Amino acid sequence: MAVPKRRKSKAMRDHRRAQWMRSVPVPSVTLCPRCQEPKLGHRVCANCGYYRDRAVFVKEAE
Ligand SMILES: [Zn+2]
Repeated sequence: MAVPKRRKSKAMRDHRRAQWMRSVPVPSVTLCPRCQEPKLGHRVCANCGYYRDRAVFVKEAE
């Protein structure tokens, strides 16, 4: 079995373990065309309950 010749430093180890943060995509926040509230792309708007031109759920009256 292969054995590493040199031990990597703690800084290199921590640098490698921090790499996953770069691979996580930034969530694409867009404005809802109906109520102009910020919402996630390809998701139902949490404010008005609409996706595209369709009512997915009716928001409770306040
Ligand atoms: Zn909306």
